[in-house]
Amino acid sequence: MVKVRVIFTKAKSIFTKTKIPSCSFVLNPYVGCEHACLYCYAKFLCKWKNHGRWGSWVEVKENAPELVKGKHVRSKVCMSSVSDAYQPVEKKLMLTRRVLENMDKRTDLSILTKSDLVTRDIDIFERFECIEVGLTVNGLDERIRKVLEPRAPKHEKRIDALEMLHESGIRNYAFISPLIPELVDPEAIVKETKSFVHHYFVEFLNLRAAGRKFVEWLKNNFPECYEKMMNRDELRKQVNHVKTVLAKSHVNIAGIVTHHEGFKIIL
Ligand code: SF4
Repeated sequence: MVKVRVIFTKAKSIFTKTKIPSCSFVLNPYVGCEHACLYCYAKFLCKWKNHGRWGSWVEVKENAPELVKGKHVRSKVCMSSVSDAYQPVEKKLMLTRRVLENMDKRTDLSILTKSDLVTRDIDIFERFECIEVGLTVNGLDERIRKVLEPRAPKHEKRIDALEMLHESGIRNYAFISPLIPELVDPEAIVKETKSFVHHYFVEFLNLRAAGRKFVEWLKNNFPECYEKMMNRDELRKQVNHVKTVLAKSHVNIAGIVTHHEGFKIIL
């Protein structure tokens, strides 16, 4: 059992302007993430926060529920960008739940998580006028998932959560990420989920943001994947393959993101 340090803080504000495409503001009830994904793009925060390695600490913005009260944000809000709002600590603290309870239900809200804990809050999602809830799915082999996403719920639980959201009438989406050629099979994921997923968003791994440790792991364990990630022509082929898979499956596609020629949304 890994000991995670929980640090209680008070934030000055809670809606932060963002350049994330299709979002105007991000809302992070937590900073830091127990899921401890080896490739996490948010681990750069360890440079600024003196709390130790990524995954070993979580900051809890304990006044977040008060900060959202009475605020009507008119453009899209995404939850979260530097944490997972449904990481294990949420089960006990119910901070995200209290934020949602206090939030203006007219907010155009998009939630992305790796945890099936999200289904606990379906009763609140139902009260929002415009909401979508996404689960990150990548179907990694269990031995690989244990290394890359050591404390995130298994693939099957995320799939079940997508199905439960669908059955409850909540618009859901599958975020196929990080797409690593050879390790992630988008065709299999779409086949498994298309009957209950509203739309798909695909993101190819951002090798640079994933950091040195991840790159070393990939090079040592899957050199052929690393070579593919480094080769632009090969990556273009992979992107075309994903486009074909999605088109053939007749599913809704919100976007395919690549990073090899700078950040790009295709479709
Ligand atoms: S769940 Fe998301 S925020 Fe948390 S460690 Fe993994 S990639 Fe980072």
